[in-house]
Amino acid sequence: MQKKAILYKKLPSDLVQCTCCSHYCVIKPWESGKCSIRKNISWDLYLLNYWKILGLNIDPVEKKPLFHFLPWARVLSFWTASCNFTCSFCQNWQMSQLRKENKEYWKNFWNNYEEALEKIWDEVTPEAIVDFAAKNNIEAIAYTYNEPTIFFEFLKDVSLLAKKKWIRTIMVSNWFQTKEFCDEAKEFIDAINIDLKAWSNEFYKEICDWRIEPIKENIKRIFNETDTFVEITTLIIPWENDSNEDLENMANFIKNISADIPWHISAFHPDWKMLDKEITPLSTILKAYEIGKKVGLNYVYAGNVNVPRLETTYCPKCREELIIRSWFVWERVIDKTSWIWICPECKTKIAGCFVENWEFVTRKETLFSK
Ligand code: SF4
Ligand code: SF4
Repeated sequence: MQKKAILYKKLPSDLVQCTCCSHYCVIKPWESGKCSIRKNISWDLYLLNYWKILGLNIDPVEKKPLFHFLPWARVLSFWTASCNFTCSFCQNWQMSQLRKENKEYWKNFWNNYEEALEKIWDEVTPEAIVDFAAKNNIEAIAYTYNEPTIFFEFLKDVSLLAKKKWIRTIMVSNWFQTKEFCDEAKEFIDAINIDLKAWSNEFYKEICDWRIEPIKENIKRIFNETDTFVEITTLIIPWENDSNEDLENMANFIKNISADIPWHISAFHPDWKMLDKEITPLSTILKAYEIGKKVGLNYVYAGNVNVPRLETTYCPKCREELIIRSWFVWERVIDKTSWIWICPECKTKIAGCFVENWEFVTRKETLFSK
């Protein structure tokens, strides 16, 4: 189904400019933007895959990963086609790279890209998604696996319905948004895990096909100007973003926004166009983990490696173990009924949103101890 977009501007000569992500595509009549799914039709911008989801899954919230946001929650994740990036290491490239120009990925199944968007995938309405979540007592809906920014109008409608049923909303995103997007999303997105993929512009340019600056600005903006809860993930790729300098720069950048923002370091495994690299050595992951702690981040985690205690939440003051995780499964929790976590040993407040009754948590000051 085609849905008229919200985030765009009309330009002279029948052009439109999409204001959803920082590509700010200027789109000619009857053409689509870089992501293939936002098209100029008769001098208006339309989203081509509204209601068209590629998949739906129930995940633990820890898989997003979010470790300080409703840590016991089950999340209804869904995803669509395409992305605004072309990261050569993409672990979800089968959906993220279903773009018009990547004909080799879809030509065996479809004659025409837009016809496929329109006809082949099942239609799932926002009402159906939210009703399913409510009936199954699911605490949050997550837009994930491909980049949700590009289907803004769809996720907005789902989110507004979810709010009415007291269901929270999560984005997992490269956060290459625009200010216009952030200003809208802050009204209905409760938590976000942002990919800070690297520190250098060269990495973003050569591997993801864009630049880092808008992402840095957007991370500061979402933290400082909204009540959306933020965690950050970095996939560590050997020889690409794993130098001490890069890791220290990323950790310092996060710390300068807030030491309470959880930083997830994740081990790379070869995928899509980056098959020539090796899995990230454990020594590199341990190095990154130690750098995060040394710089002064209060909550550092390492994923995709099976090492005890690297996914544990420790009290930042007395190092008491508060939650022990192993591949998303808890082995222990502290007082789950409390709406703010306090370390039982030293009474330090632990950053996060741990409340079951979400009416109590609406402001950032309850989430972070800044
Ligand atoms: S979402 Fe980004 S890539 Fe897609 S049309 Fe809009 S500006 Fe371009
Ligand atoms: S932004 Fe994420 S989904 Fe998109 S190509 Fe990069 S890794 Fe894949």
